[in-house]
Amino acid sequence: MHPTTQLLQEARDRVTFPVQDLTKLIYGNEEIYETFMKAQKVIASEPSIRNHPDYHNWGRKEQIIKSYEKLRVMHQHLNLANAAHWAPMLSLFQGTTPSAVSFGMTVPALRFLGTDEQFNLWGPKFLTMEIVAAYAQTEIGHGSDVQNLETTATYDSQTNDFVLHTPSVSAVKFWPGELGFLSNYALVYAKLIFNGKNKGVHPFMVQIRDNATHKPLQGVVVGDIGPKLGYSTKDNGFLAFENYRIPLNSLLARYVRIENGQFSKHGNEKISYASMMVSRQLIIFVYPRMAAQSLTVAIRYSITRQQFTNDKREENSVLEYQTQQDKLLPRLATCYGMIFAGLRIMELVDDNFHRVQKKDFSTLQQSHAILSALKAWSSQWVVDTAEWCRLSCGGHGYAHYSGIPAIYFDTAPNVTLEGENQVMYLQVARYLLQEKVPFYFNFVLHIKETLANQSTDFGQLLKLTLTLQLISVAKKIKDTIGTGKNFQQIWNEVVGVQLLSVAQRYAEYFTYLVFQEYISSANPSVKEVLQQMCDLYSLQVILDNPNTLIESGRITVDQFKQFNEIKIDLFNKLKPQALGLVEAFNFTDNALRTCIGCHDGKPYEYIYEWATKENSVNIKGVPQAVNDLMGTKIKARL
Ligand SMILES: Cc1cc2nc3c(=O)[nH]c(=O)nc-3n(C[C@H](O)[C@H](O)[C@H](O)COP(=O)(O)OP(=O)(O)OC[C@H]3O[C@@H](n4cnc5c(N)ncnc54)[C@H](O)[C@@H]3O)c2cc1C
Repeated sequence: MHPTTQLLQEARDRVTFPVQDLTKLIYGNEEIYETFMKAQKVIASEPSIRNHPDYHNWGRKEQIIKSYEKLRVMHQHLNLANAAHWAPMLSLFQGTTPSAVSFGMTVPALRFLGTDEQFNLWGPKFLTMEIVAAYAQTEIGHGSDVQNLETTATYDSQTNDFVLHTPSVSAVKFWPGELGFLSNYALVYAKLIFNGKNKGVHPFMVQIRDNATHKPLQGVVVGDIGPKLGYSTKDNGFLAFENYRIPLNSLLARYVRIENGQFSKHGNEKISYASMMVSRQLIIFVYPRMAAQSLTVAIRYSITRQQFTNDKREENSVLEYQTQQDKLLPRLATCYGMIFAGLRIMELVDDNFHRVQKKDFSTLQQSHAILSALKAWSSQWVVDTAEWCRLSCGGHGYAHYSGIPAIYFDTAPNVTLEGENQVMYLQVARYLLQEKVPFYFNFVLHIKETLANQSTDFGQLLKLTLTLQLISVAKKIKDTIGTGKNFQQIWNEVVGVQLLSVAQRYAEYFTYLVFQEYISSANPSVKEVLQQMCDLYSLQVILDNPNTLIESGRITVDQFKQFNEIKIDLFNKLKPQALGLVEAFNFTDNALRTCIGCHDGKPYEYIYEWATKENSVNIKGVPQAVNDLMGTKIKARL
C-alpha cells in the first residue's frame, strides 16, 4: 500500500465506534442526509459544475458564470424552495450560491410581513425564478441602526401610491447580495412618510429591472459594488432611486397598512425578527459544517504529514504532537456541539413559526435571543477554526489547493452580515437582563441554587460562570444609576465589554445543554465518545475564560492545573477517534476541494499533480510581460 495511504488506513482501523451511527446524528434526519449526499454526487458527476482545482486562478466573471450554472443544474436535482435542500449548496460548492438571498431572506420576509394576498401574488414567481429579489436594507451610511435608514417612501394621497427616493449618497442601498446583476425585484426598507410624518422603516416590494430586457427601470440606479475579501461570485450591489413611483400594494401590509387614505398598525411589531430567523438559522446550521470540512482536511493531513523522528527512528505524524492536538481536538469537539446546536435551533425556529402563524408570539423573543447568540458565536468560531486548520497544515495550508483558505474568506462575512456579531450579542445581553426568562434561559430562575452548588462538574461551572457574570453586570448597572449617567450611557460606556462577555457565555452554555441532550438520545455505541467530546468542549471553554471562577474563589489554582491534566487525558482518548469523528461527516474529495485531505491520503502526489497539470498559470506558459521585462535588461543602479 502507498505509505501515506497506509498511515490513514491504520488510523481508520484504530477508530473504535461505528462511524455511521454518528453520521445519522450529525445530519439530524434522512431528508437532510440524502440531500447532502445527493448534492455531493451531482457536483462530482456534472463536469460543468464540478469543483475545479484551477478555480482560484479564474477571473471573477468566469466564477460568477459558473455559479449561475451551478444553480441551473442543482435546480433540476433539488427542491430549492426547501431550506434543507439549500443547505448543501451553500457549503459544498466553490463560490456562493445565486438566489440564496432571495430564497433565504426575501421570501421569509414576504411570508411573515406580507399579507396572504401579497404572498400569493409574488411567492409562486420566486419558485420559478420569474422573480429574484434582493433584500435591500443596508445603506452606505447605516447598517446596524435600521431605524436611521434614510431612503424615503412618501405616500401620495392624490395618486394613492408611494414615491421612493434616495435623498443623499449615504442613503444609497449598499451591500445587498444578488442586487448587482441578478435581481429584478428588491425588498427595499424605507422610511414611510405619511402626511408629512415619519411612520418608521418598513419593507416595500419593488420592481427594479425590466422583465424582458433585465435593464434597470427609469428612476433606478443599480449595479455591483466591486471586489471583496471573498464572496467573489456574489453580486453585492448598490441601489438608488430618483423619485421612483411604486404602487400602494408594494408596502408589505400584514402589520402596517394604508387603507382608504388612513395609516394603521396591527399585531406584534416584533414579528420583523421572524423574517431574519431563516437566514440566521441557516448560518448556524450550514457553516459549522464548513468548519467540519476544514477539520477533515486538517486531521487527515496531520495523520499523513510526518516531521521529525522518534526514538525508534521512525518519523512522527504531526498529529502525535500535543500542540497539534491542541490546535485541532478542542475545535473538533466544539464543532460537534455547534452541529447539534444548529439542529436543535432548526426545531425551535420551526416551532416558533407555527406559533407565530397562529398569532402566538410567546416564544418569539426567546428564539430571537438564542439565534442571535448562536449566530454571533458560531460565525466567528467557524472563521477562527478555518484559520487554525490552515495553520495546522503548515505551508500547504496556505495554498488554495488545500481547500481551507476559501472556507476562511467565504465564511468571514457571516460575522458581519445578518446582524453584526457584537450588535447581536448586545441584544442577547438585554434579553438576559430581563427578570424572568423561561425556556433555555431558566438558569436565571435558579440563581440561588446555582450559587449554592459546590460541584465542579463542567456543566455546573459553565452555568456558574454565566450566572456570576450576569449578577456582576446587573450590579454594575444598578450601582452606576444615580451617578449622573443615564441608562444609555451606562450601557454604551460602562458595561459594554461585560455585556458581550455574558452573551458569549450564554452561547457556550446553550451549546453545552444541547450537546448533553443529544448525548442522552444518541445510540449507546457513540455515547462514550460523544461524552468525551462534550467534556473536552466544556473544559476548553472553562480554560479559555477562567477569570470569573478564579476571582470568585469557586475554583482554586490547583483545580485549574488539574483541569489541564484532564484535558491532556482527553486528548489521549480522542486522538485515535479523531479520523472517525471527521469522516462521520462523509464529505467526498470533490466537495472538500482539497488535494491534501483526500480519502486515500496521498497529499504529495496531488499537490504536485495540481501544481503541474491543473494550474493554468503554468499551462499557458511564461507571461509575455516576463519576456518583455527580461528583454529590457534592467541595469543595476549602483
Ligand atoms: C458580504 C456581505 C453581504 C451582505 N448582504 C446584505 C444584504 O443582502 N442585504 C442588506 O441589507 N445588507 C447586507 N449586508 C450588510 C450587512 O448587513 C451590514 O454590513 C451589517 O448589518 C453591519 O452593519 P454596518 O455595516 O452598518 O456596521 P456598523 O454597525 O457600522 O459596525 C461598525 C462597528 O461598529 C460597532 N457597533 C455598531 N453599533 C454598535 C452599538 N450599538 N454598540 C456597540 N458597537 C456598535 C460594530 O460592532 C462594528 O464593530 C451585507 C454585508 C456583507 C459584508
